[in-house]
Amino acid sequence: MPKRNIELIELDDNDILVRKIALIETAKRCFDLRLQSNAGGNLSVRLACNEAIVIKPSGIGFNECTVDNLMVADLNGEVLAGSGKPSKDLDFHAGIYRARKDVGAIVHVHSPWATGWASAGLEIPCATVQTIEKVGRIPLIPLGPNGGPQRSEDIVPAVEDHSVKAATLASHGTIGLGKTLVDAQYVVELLEETAHIAFLREALAFAKGLNNVPLPAAGLKQQNAV
Ligand SMILES: [Zn+2]
Repeated sequence: MPKRNIELIELDDNDILVRKIALIETAKRCFDLRLQSNAGGNLSVRLACNEAIVIKPSGIGFNECTVDNLMVADLNGEVLAGSGKPSKDLDFHAGIYRARKDVGAIVHVHSPWATGWASAGLEIPCATVQTIEKVGRIPLIPLGPNGGPQRSEDIVPAVEDHSVKAATLASHGTIGLGKTLVDAQYVVELLEETAHIAFLREALAFAKGLNNVPLPAAGLKQQNAV
């Protein structure tokens, strides 16, 4: 991967501060909504210069982010500012920003309902009109080699298509992409809601002896496009 001279990246302290405050708000909201416990997950936002991001470091919970402990990194994963330990997720966040110029923020959480589907090796069905309209197909990304965590090279190709707004990671969690942190957070919220609804749909259909309750036609089309 070509190294970029970090001195060529112009960092604007005001912009960094504004993005950090937005990231802290989003992390808090994800924590309050129980989309992410205080262990794991990560979120990041692209700076106005386009060439660098603010990201949560390793070992800092969603409910513990402050303007002092967040990091700044370039799109090759080089840390530009911050004294914490870079997250292992930095690679895939940077990879997505390199591949998707339209993505301004990434929220990655281990939310239970959505991760339940992913852990069973199942895609979350496009079962509601909200998911069909606002998210669309949700690729399921298998574990990495030898059952290890998904690496950047496993994740980025699955979300390269500009129509993809979300993905699930087998036995791991979810990823929401958006122009802003609020957009990306809404995506993971909607994924969690859809996963819960889809589970209830399947359970009720089973309880009532209904086989093959069809998905909405538009959802089925999206599902089959994966
Ligand atoms: Zn994770």
